[in-house]
Amino acid sequence: MILGKIEKDEKRVKFNVPIFCTDCNKSVPGRIISGEKYSQTREFKTELEHFKKNYLCGICRDKKRRQKN
Ligand SMILES: [Zn+2]
Repeated sequence: MILGKIEKDEKRVKFNVPIFCTDCNKSVPGRIISGEKYSQTREFKTELEHFKKNYLCGICRDKKRRQKN
């Protein structure tokens, strides 16, 4: 998953982050990709926290979508 901004020709950094589905708690192998510069900013950390707090696995996402319809 790409998080934040990656400028053209910028070096990309990859992180392996433990991510858990916020609904069923299943752990999801999370690989986050971001630009080298952005990954060192506070915004990146905030965005990553936000992402983790709102993460749903594919199954729960489907479930939610179906409930809405
Ligand atoms: Zn789930």
